[in-house]
Amino acid sequence: MKILFTASECVPFIKTGGLADVVGALAPVLAQEGHDVRVMCPLYSKIPEQYVNEMTHVLDFEVTLGWRKQYCGIEMLKQDGVVYYFIDNKFYFGRSYIYGLGGDEYERFGFFCRACLNALPLLDFQPDVIHAHDWQSGMVPALLKIQYAHLPFFSGIKTMFTIHNLQYQGIFGIREVQDVLGLGDSLWTDDKLECFGCANYLKAGLVYSDIITTVSPSYAEEIQTAYYGERLDGLLRARKHEVYGILNGLDVVEYDPSKDAALAATYSADDLSGKAACKKALQEEMKLTVDPDIPVIGMVGRLSNQKGLDLVDCVLGDMMEKNVQLVVLGMGESRYVNLFEWAQNAFPGRIACRFDMDSSLAHRIYAGCDMFLMPSQFEPCGLSQMIAMRYGTIPIVRETGGLRDTVLSYNEYSGEGNGFTFFNYNAHDMLYVVGIAAEYYHEHKDVWKLLQQRGMTTDFSWTRSANRYIELYRGIIGETELKDPSEPAEVPAETVAEAPAEEKPRKKTTRKAAKPAEEKAAEAPAEEKPKKRTTKKAAAPAETPAEKTSAEAPAEEKPKKRTTKKAAAPAETPAEKTSAEAPAEEKPKKRTTKKAAAPAEAASEAPAEEKPKKRTTRKTAKAAE
Ligand code: ADP
Repeated sequence: MKILFTASECVPFIKTGGLADVVGALAPVLAQEGHDVRVMCPLYSKIPEQYVNEMTHVLDFEVTLGWRKQYCGIEMLKQDGVVYYFIDNKFYFGRSYIYGLGGDEYERFGFFCRACLNALPLLDFQPDVIHAHDWQSGMVPALLKIQYAHLPFFSGIKTMFTIHNLQYQGIFGIREVQDVLGLGDSLWTDDKLECFGCANYLKAGLVYSDIITTVSPSYAEEIQTAYYGERLDGLLRARKHEVYGILNGLDVVEYDPSKDAALAATYSADDLSGKAACKKALQEEMKLTVDPDIPVIGMVGRLSNQKGLDLVDCVLGDMMEKNVQLVVLGMGESRYVNLFEWAQNAFPGRIACRFDMDSSLAHRIYAGCDMFLMPSQFEPCGLSQMIAMRYGTIPIVRETGGLRDTVLSYNEYSGEGNGFTFFNYNAHDMLYVVGIAAEYYHEHKDVWKLLQQRGMTTDFSWTRSANRYIELYRGIIGETELKDPSEPAEVPAETVAEAPAEEKPRKKTTRKAAKPAEEKAAEAPAEEKPKKRTTKKAAAPAETPAEKTSAEAPAEEKPKKRTTKKAAAPAETPAEKTSAEAPAEEKPKKRTTKKAAAPAEAASEAPAEEKPKKRTTRKTAKAAE
């Protein structure tokens, strides 16, 4: 098959987050399977010179954007069996930033999408499938169906659109987008391009692509609810038979503690001694008190609300009372930069932070920490928890999205699990689980080692997920029959650790966690016993400051639970600090690149059972034509 990826970032060339990891790792794996895989990405001035020097100039042409004509160069680089095309225009991409500051994102990425399509006949590359990623590529499927599909070269090309994060949608004024992309008035209805009075590049991708995927099975379910749906849940429900959740993999070569050159010492699941050296080196590097007995908790990621940092804010002092150390690496909101800067001064030798994009330090944190904290409000997939496990660092996560698909809380009775989890978006629940993890670290070293080894030997490679993508590509081009998303079991069975029969589970002494687990165990017949998440508390502490951060969503809006994962789920659903106790549809607007205020509209509010208007690609494409 001939497959074209269009994406705004891709490792090793340019990265701000997980999107780059996914594109950069999936493309070579597909190429290894024998497919002709090519990737198109903007040529940012931030791409390191070493790569720019390797590129060859293959093409230049003009791209028409409304009344303007813009230069477009195509630079090419071949690596690991993949052809990378870089879209060159200094005006749009020769800036000191990748996203966001100029106020002309609609034009930059409108240009990118049009340039990708215009380049194809000139490159004489006619892909079977264009796989577009996130809102920056959302206009690729839309422009293809609306403006190009009548041309013989483009008519047979199918499209897949992958949501890496539904929160970022690329919302702009309709007039501005019309101005650059020349999309007529008839296209601006809510079944096509219009979205709450605005243009929305992500919605364009969702409406006009042949198939939609997202990066974990749980997130695929969650985004069809009003709470997680970011006002596009109605559309996603309308297309629910074409929304697939495929768990991301890891680049297991890049993240390999047995060969990692960034580390003070390498180590493996069989011989963990190097990990202690990595911990000592990290404590020294970050100016923490060097002490092998104090558990070090790591956090690497964007400093944004999504990552649950307001929970950490709420209970940071209490966390420090548990005699742990905290290492934070991230860039993002000034609120959290200020918080961690303050914390570093308030707890010298115990909290250390770096506000930088530093991949080498990230590796040393994954290796040198004992635990990795990810209390995300929502998490489409999350790579960091998988990287942490690969480095024998035990994840402590909130049960949401890809986190719940990859981390199962240790169960003292069955011995299952590979980390520690909590469900409510509640700071004290998080604190409690950190305490449990610290207790295991100190008092049950055999269990700790078992969890480390489980994480390190789990298969996080792309192989399985890449096959799933191939299956879907084959489905959309008509080579095989497309199965309904509800049919296949999409979470790789081995991803969530289960206790091998010979591993004796270990009794844990903590009463709070033990009691509910014992009660549940007594209720279930032995052979039907579902997996338990024993680190859950029976009830959240009353009147805690953290309660301000949680809210309740109506029961019918909760995402469906994966029954194989948990014994029982508490009634509450997570919520944002800002939206405490508000019904999900009254959630305050999210921070997006939105320019204009969006009026309320029915599109995403239709309950599932009311059968919202079908907005399938075929229909809309026809209408557009
Ligand atoms: P998201 O895509 O939401 O940002 P993910 O967990 O999916 O989060 O992926 C984040 C990736 O970016 C991980 O590989 C993580 O190690 C990396 N990362 C995030 N922030 C930094 C940073 N400041 N320095 C180095 N790597 C980072």
